[in-house]
Amino acid sequence: MLTTSCDAPEEITNTSEEKVSTVQKIEEEGLTTFISKQRPKNVIFLIGDGMGLTQITAGSIAKKTPLVLEKFRQIGLVKTYSTKLITDSAAGATAMATGSKTYNGAISMNIHQEKLKTIVEYAEEANWLTGIVTTATVTHATPACFYGHQPTRSRVNQKLAAEFMTKDIEVLMGGGWNYFKEGLDGRDLIAEAQEKGYFVTDNIEQVGDYRPEKMICLISAKLPPKIKERGNFLPLAAKKAIDILSYPKSNFFLMIEGAQIDWGGHQKNSDYIVEEMLDFDKTIQEAFDFAEKDGNTLVIVTADHETGGYSINGGSAKEGKVEGKFTSDYHTATMVPIFAYGPGAESFTGIMDNTEIFYKLKYLMNMEALSAPSK
Ligand code: MG
Ligand code: ZN
Repeated sequence: MLTTSCDAPEEITNTSEEKVSTVQKIEEEGLTTFISKQRPKNVIFLIGDGMGLTQITAGSIAKKTPLVLEKFRQIGLVKTYSTKLITDSAAGATAMATGSKTYNGAISMNIHQEKLKTIVEYAEEANWLTGIVTTATVTHATPACFYGHQPTRSRVNQKLAAEFMTKDIEVLMGGGWNYFKEGLDGRDLIAEAQEKGYFVTDNIEQVGDYRPEKMICLISAKLPPKIKERGNFLPLAAKKAIDILSYPKSNFFLMIEGAQIDWGGHQKNSDYIVEEMLDFDKTIQEAFDFAEKDGNTLVIVTADHETGGYSINGGSAKEGKVEGKFTSDYHTATMVPIFAYGPGAESFTGIMDNTEIFYKLKYLMNMEALSAPSK
């Protein structure tokens, strides 16, 4: 049970002096965490997979003008470990989506292989609109942990697609058409989705100004390609998702993943990291611009872990050139940054555990009263 050291949240004015008292101390699951009393109407949660400080720095050098992240004033650091010191993306996303540390490879299941209720499932229960956007397949570890539950991340694409169909998530965009078209047990989940009222497409650019109520966009049979082929998919998808979810004036939660920053790290490819960082920056811009106009949307940008033990050992700020080096072709245990903007943003300053992000969100989204995780 959650205990707070303050009374119920009240209307807070926005002067900087009063801001100090808008943060309250909360203890849950052995964690002490500080949470703002200001609650947002909407949350846009952006994950740069494998995006450590160096990846961000590389992006800022290459861009030569400030990244959108440089507009964020509330910044913290996140410890990323799972039950192992070095996490994978499944355990990392499970921690942020459910508040539980688990073993590497788990898709929102605990160490006993019991299902953990995700922030998207909480949001759905509270009648928030929800969306998931990624540059991986929509059944890849990071996005899957927000709606699916599997004991292992490998060879479960069709199972996860079928799990998605049991939910009522309004927007799903990324790769993985085949896992729906050639679905579990011979099902055609594309046809089933259309019957459920989804507008289904494989091309975000052709959607134009059309604003369906529910939409699935799967741009590739399996893994989506690099920027050169996929173009502006991620910023366009983010924009369209926000457009769909914000239109009916109900609350919404949207998770957006820049998945391939991680893949650049695995390949020890500095140029790949930089182009994915710049694509992610454009995507953050879409979220930031909406939040700035809306005034009632919390934007969070963080990572599940760092990839590559990436460092910058040379280059030129003037020419926008990065000479990167790598200590690993896998993830590392270094802390990753977290950036927050909008109502509740103060909650994400300081050093925190990745599981705390879930508890902060659950509180800020006013979902304390909802039922506990189902086993
Ligand atoms: Mg990922
Ligand atoms: Zn990775």
